[in-house]
Amino acid sequence: MNQNPLRTMGQQFSRRSWAEPWKIKMVEPIHTTTKEERERAIREAGYNTFLLRSEDVYIDLLTDSGTNAMSDRQWAGIMLGDEAYAGSRNFYRLEATMQKYYGYRHLVPTHQGRGAEHLISKVAIQPGQYVPGNMYFTTTRLHQELAGGIFQDVIIDEAHDPGNLHPFKGNVDIAKLDAVLKKAGGAQNIAYISVAGTVNMAGGQPISMANIRDVRAWCDKHGVRFFLDVTRLAENAFFIQEREQGYRNKSIREIVKEFCSYTDGAWMSAKKDALVNIGGWLAVNDDTLFDNLRNLVVVYEGLHTYGGMAGRDMEAVAIGIEESMEDDHMRARIGQVYYLGELLLNWNIPIVQPIGGHGIFLNAKKIYEHIPQNQFPAQMLAAQLYLDSGIRSMERGIVSAGRDPETGDHRYPKLDLVRLTIPRRVYTQAHMDVVAEAVKYVYDNRASTRGLTMVYEPRDLRFFQARFEPVA
Ligand SMILES: *Cc1c(COP(=O)(O)O)cnc(C)c1O
Repeated sequence: MNQNPLRTMGQQFSRRSWAEPWKIKMVEPIHTTTKEERERAIREAGYNTFLLRSEDVYIDLLTDSGTNAMSDRQWAGIMLGDEAYAGSRNFYRLEATMQKYYGYRHLVPTHQGRGAEHLISKVAIQPGQYVPGNMYFTTTRLHQELAGGIFQDVIIDEAHDPGNLHPFKGNVDIAKLDAVLKKAGGAQNIAYISVAGTVNMAGGQPISMANIRDVRAWCDKHGVRFFLDVTRLAENAFFIQEREQGYRNKSIREIVKEFCSYTDGAWMSAKKDALVNIGGWLAVNDDTLFDNLRNLVVVYEGLHTYGGMAGRDMEAVAIGIEESMEDDHMRARIGQVYYLGELLLNWNIPIVQPIGGHGIFLNAKKIYEHIPQNQFPAQMLAAQLYLDSGIRSMERGIVSAGRDPETGDHRYPKLDLVRLTIPRRVYTQAHMDVVAEAVKYVYDNRASTRGLTMVYEPRDLRFFQARFEPVA
C-alpha cells in the first residue's frame, strides 16, 4: 500500500530510477542560518512557526498552499492577462476549464478558498442547521459556524487513529450521518453535507469512490444537498487510482470528473492542486443557488467575472488545473511525499499512516509522550525542528483545533500532529534527505524537550498568531 510510485516505476524499467517530469529553468537562492540566529528568531516568533520571517527559514514546509512553482506555460499565461474590469477573456477560459475537468455548470471566482467558503456558507446555511463533514478544515468549519451552522464530524473512526492502515481514512461513516439526521430532527435541519478529499487534518487521507457514491445515495434518499471541497481532489484521485478496485486504468482526469458528478457543487482553493500562488472558486449546478452566489460575490469578493483575482491569475489557475490532472505530475508529486515518509518509517519515527497526499504528519503525541496535551507537544516539535536546522513545519493539533464555542475549553483532538507539507515542484530529493535527518535528530533528543505555555491567544483561528514560551 505504501509502495513508492517512484520505485514502482523503477521496477517496471528493470530497476532504473525515475525522476520528476520537469527540469529547473529558474532558481531562487535560500540561505542557512546559525543556531544563535534561529534561537533568537523562534523566541521572537513566540515559538509559533507562522510568525517566523521567511528569510530566516531554510526549507519551508509550513504549507503547500500558494507555495507551488508555476510552469513556464503558466508564466506565459500570466502575460496573457486581460485586465478588463468585466468579462475578462481569462474568466471564460477558467470557466471552460472548470467545466471540462470538474464538470459543474456555473463558476463563481473568488480571491482564494475561504472566499468561496464564506459565500457558500452564507447562502446555503440557516442559523441552527447542522453541517456534517468528514473531519474538519479550519477555515471551512469557521465559516460554517459564523453562518450559524453546527458542524458535525462524520468521518470514520479509523481517521482518528494515526496508526490505522485503512486505505481510505477520509471516508464518511454513513451511520454517523444517520445519527446527525436523528439529532437534527429531520433533513430540513441539515444545511448540506460538506466533504473534502483528501482530508488535510487526518493526514492527507483520501475518500474512496465507493464511499462518495454511498453519500450521494444517502443525500438522494433524504433530500440533502452535497457539496465538495475539491482543493486537493486531484491528489485524492491518485489514491483511488492506486488503491480502489476498478480504477487502476482510469486517468486522474477521469476519476476527478466521476467523483464530482456525485455532488451538487464544489469550492476550491487553487493554491493547492491547481499549482498557483493565489486564487479560488466556487462552482454549482443549481441555477437559483448560482444566482444567489453571484449576488453575494459582488459584495464580498469582486465582480462575478473576477471575484478578487486579476485576469492573469485566472489564466494561471486554468493552466494549473490542466497540469494538475496529468498522471505523470501527480505520480512525481505524491512520490516525493512517499520518499520522505519512507525514510522516516525506516527509522521507526511515528508518522500518520498510510502516508498521505501532501505531506508527512509526525505524531507529536507519541514522540513527546512526556509532554501533556495542554502543553502543546506538536507546537514544541515544530519549534525544535526549526531550531535544529531551519526547517519550518506546522502544528496540527490542539492549537489548531481551537476552543469549543459552547464550553470555552480547548478542544482536545485525538491527533496532535506536526505537518511537513511539501510544496509542489519546489524542492529536490536532496532537500527531503536533509529534512529526514533533522527529524531524526530531534526525535533522538526528545527526552530532554519540555512543553510550552500559551501567553497570547487570538479569538479566531488562533494557531496563526498565538504566542508561546517554554514551561519553567
Ligand atoms: C487551504 C484550504 C482551504 C482554504 O483555502 P484558502 O485558499 O487558504 O483560503 C479550504 N479547504 C481546504 C481543504 C484547504 O486545504
